[in-house]
Amino acid sequence: YVPGLDKGKGLYFLFVKSETRTPGGLLARPVLTSYYKSDHFKTRPYDPYNVYTSPNEAILCSDSFQSMYTQMLCGLIERHHVLRLGAVFASGLLRAIRFLQLNWPELAHDIQTGTLNSRITDPAIRSYMDKVLKSDPELAQFVTQQCSKDNWEGIITRIWPNTKYLDVIVTGAMAQYIPTLNYYSGGGLPLACTMYASSECYFGLNLNPMCKPSEVSYTIMPNMAYFEFLPHDPKPGSTSSKLVELADVEVGKEYELVITTYAGLYRYRVGDILRVTGFHNSAPQFHFVRRKNVLLSIDSDKTDESELQKGIENASKLLSEFNTSVVEYTSYADTTTIPGHYVIYGELLTKDSTNSPSHEVLNRCCLEMEECLNSVYRQCRVADHSIGPLEIRVVRNGTFEELMDYAISRAASINQYKVPRCVNFTPIMELLDSRVVSVHFSQELPHWTPERRR
Ligand code: AMP
Repeated sequence: YVPGLDKGKGLYFLFVKSETRTPGGLLARPVLTSYYKSDHFKTRPYDPYNVYTSPNEAILCSDSFQSMYTQMLCGLIERHHVLRLGAVFASGLLRAIRFLQLNWPELAHDIQTGTLNSRITDPAIRSYMDKVLKSDPELAQFVTQQCSKDNWEGIITRIWPNTKYLDVIVTGAMAQYIPTLNYYSGGGLPLACTMYASSECYFGLNLNPMCKPSEVSYTIMPNMAYFEFLPHDPKPGSTSSKLVELADVEVGKEYELVITTYAGLYRYRVGDILRVTGFHNSAPQFHFVRRKNVLLSIDSDKTDESELQKGIENASKLLSEFNTSVVEYTSYADTTTIPGHYVIYGELLTKDSTNSPSHEVLNRCCLEMEECLNSVYRQCRVADHSIGPLEIRVVRNGTFEELMDYAISRAASINQYKVPRCVNFTPIMELLDSRVVSVHFSQELPHWTPERRR
């Protein structure tokens, strides 16, 4: 699809995550961490179509700052060889751009002097960089000149002028990042979504990778597992439990993916809702519709309604000491900041105004909520820094009633109205934001430990 990719390199931001143990003592880690740490990756044969600017030493370094710093530095050094930029998910590539915004002076300094930042302490990285880092004042000046501008529009194509496309997943929850990616790439670069996969199983490929993100379909690879499909009927109360075989799914219908894998998962519900768009031979092709029950997602985190509710309950315990309760709440995944973060809009009822919760207490409530969210969220916060501090925006009393009035004015039923637990419709966001009386953030990181042993 893209000629000449063997004549240059890919700047891919690839990372390993730390490993955990299941209560039964088994090693648990995401699929890419397994792959990068395996010999398949580490001793892969030379393939001119898959040459990365990032050295294995940087990809395999578990400290995310050192890893990112080195990968960015190598990408800058080889900027004319870079033909494509990528990360697994769109959020990862934007994090890299944000990293450049924050760290370009140090990167430019290293390029100017030919010495590696003392914050990079990993011996394998230092010894690799010793060989490739040379003083290049012209490049240092170029980086400084580009990065010190206030306007970062098109920064990707300015720094990496030979980029032919961006290789990132922008389907599903990642679609929210398309406008920002277009902004940083000057709007002209194709976005290629090549794969649909999970840690449990590889599912499918996009056989038309240069198509528009909204038109992406993934073709299931029938040899990867035993695939079955649970018809998904969004009408409340109607559940259909009869599984459909791979070749029998119907175009236009939505299904939940169910897999039986070689590793031993039996009729495992992945949690993804897919819509059939066609067939390649007898293998069905799917549009990724959404993840079931996920309200909030910034990176690899997936937070559902019950987890959010638990978080609110935990924060409410703190508020009850001040005779205050949460009347209503809703949430929003704010990706205008990089990294993105969760925003909770809450309406509070304070019974004793002489003893209302202080700013510090509400900051603490943010942390209490985070402590309750799942371990992938906390790992993203603590180890990967791919999610920013959770924010609570307190709205004035009566705001949620106004929200209901608004919904009813747009034909919602009074009887059946439910407060949406997640919002992203602009008029609703504007209404909520115009009623904000105070804003609070987590001041600390929640707890998260990489190794959990019995
Ligand atoms: P993980 O368990 O972290 O490997 O994540 C796997 C999940 O990520 C899948 O079940 C999907 O919900 C999501 N995912 C993976 N690939 C894609 C894709 N191409 N488009 C949308 N979502 C995806």
